[in-house]
Amino acid sequence: MHETVIPRKLTPKVLVGDVPVGGNAPVVVQSMTNTDTADIEATTRQVIELSEAGSEIVRITVNTEAAARAVPEIHRRLRSAGYTVPLVGDFHYNGHTLLQDFNDCADALDKYRINPGNVGQGEKRDQRFCQMIEQACRREKPVRIGVNWGSLDPQLLARKLDENTLAQTPRSAEAITRDALVDSALQSAVLAQQEGLRPDQIILSAKVSSVSELVLVYRELSHRSSLALHLGLTEAGMADKGVVSSTAALALLLHQGIGDTIRVSLTPQPGESRTREVRIAQEILQSLGLRSFAPQVTACPGCGRTTSDFFQRLASEVQDHLRERMLDWQTCYPGAASLSVAVMGCVVNGPGESRQADIGISLPGTGEQPVAPVYQDGKKVKTLRGNDIAAQFIALVESYVKNRYTPDTEEVRPDRRSAVS
Ligand code: SF4
Repeated sequence: MHETVIPRKLTPKVLVGDVPVGGNAPVVVQSMTNTDTADIEATTRQVIELSEAGSEIVRITVNTEAAARAVPEIHRRLRSAGYTVPLVGDFHYNGHTLLQDFNDCADALDKYRINPGNVGQGEKRDQRFCQMIEQACRREKPVRIGVNWGSLDPQLLARKLDENTLAQTPRSAEAITRDALVDSALQSAVLAQQEGLRPDQIILSAKVSSVSELVLVYRELSHRSSLALHLGLTEAGMADKGVVSSTAALALLLHQGIGDTIRVSLTPQPGESRTREVRIAQEILQSLGLRSFAPQVTACPGCGRTTSDFFQRLASEVQDHLRERMLDWQTCYPGAASLSVAVMGCVVNGPGESRQADIGISLPGTGEQPVAPVYQDGKKVKTLRGNDIAAQFIALVESYVKNRYTPDTEEVRPDRRSAVS
């Protein structure tokens, strides 16, 4: 699978704070807070939580004067606590006045997100859009021009629908809406550049909530523009539906080499941490072989050949252990992010899958000898027995990481991986 990933289209490299987006930079993971930005304490805490989970850019809404006033203090608290994660301000309706009236806010943000469908109508729309671009130019800030299906410029859409009605062979309403979405993004990008914004200060997005429509929209956007692209399925939804829809949409596009930064827009369950969207985004990129964030555990699903769920518990225990340990390994063994571990339930696929992994264990299935062979780098190195196989295996994984990865040899061995970052 890794070999079939199409190289990403080279777009201009945009610097968001000190995080490169586009060019030959790895695909960047973003997230967004859901706190009231005016609540400095809660927003700072959530930005830290998202940053610690691995979000490389965090967006916060800037919707009121109180929110705009809070931004510099949130920024100050983050930086003084050692968090360098870039902050993006999400503006709708009143961004032109907030950016103009709150200089410290405009300075503190690392990027502005502008939705051209939500800045006004007619002449006012262009005027306000240009006011925001002017603020970005003056401060050398990048901008994401982010159009959205749900807030598409109604005049542009109405004009296109009218033209379609008069056409000899009218196209479907969906096709016209897709065109309007892409046109809105591209026309706004042209206008921004006329106002002085450079291509390496622009990221485009055009979000919809349908997987197939999103793929068509981004293919078109990528075909018609060389600007950096932010991918995201908007309103992806809750729980499994949100995860599956986002994964399907983003994987299809990333696999075609489209996209420089992603966000997975999940609706958290009440009380659920916001960080899940970061983990899912990382898993998508790692599954495609585009980034390595944490060691991966391959586990079989289990079947009638296993008499207990021991191997499932072992797989889960190993995965949890690796995720937790990766926080330390990032400093001393950063290459461990690309480690692959197999935990298999019986002799049918166990030895084969374990040999493919960097380190793997094949547990005994029904009727098999109560022993668990361990493989490292394709060779059987040990046979575990007894009641503490889990602890023994985790100790072997620890020792493997220490022996294989050092601060000087964090590169992934080319014969076993094809990750590109
Ligand atoms: S490896 Fe063995 S236990 Fe696991 S799914 Fe395959 S046959 Fe079943």
